[in-house]
Amino acid sequence: MKRIYSSHDLIGVHHARNLLDAAGIRAIVRNELLSSAMGELPPAECLAELWVLDDAEAARAEAILREGRLPQTPGATLWRCAVCGETMEAQFTQCWHCGATRGADAPLNR
Ligand SMILES: [Zn+2]
Repeated sequence: MKRIYSSHDLIGVHHARNLLDAAGIRAIVRNELLSSAMGELPPAECLAELWVLDDAEAARAEAILREGRLPQTPGATLWRCAVCGETMEAQFTQCWHCGATRGADAPLNR
């Protein structure tokens, strides 16, 4: 198993899982209950995580998320991770590549 995405945004994690599901890649969400315990655990322990069951499919899964096989939200704003330069859609609050949180100072790419 390989973790390919984690976020405080549970909806985003489930959305990513659905994308992989549609592509025939088996993935599970972990820690989703922990994310509701925010405040009692250190934030890093509370991230909902998306794990791909088969390591061999992890690269393809990452590519699917990265290449934007995401439903296009009209007027969606892309943002670029200030840490690694990965481009994310607006619904993601965290970089799936390096895990950095979307910062106010991250340059926006419209
Ligand atoms: Zn990043």
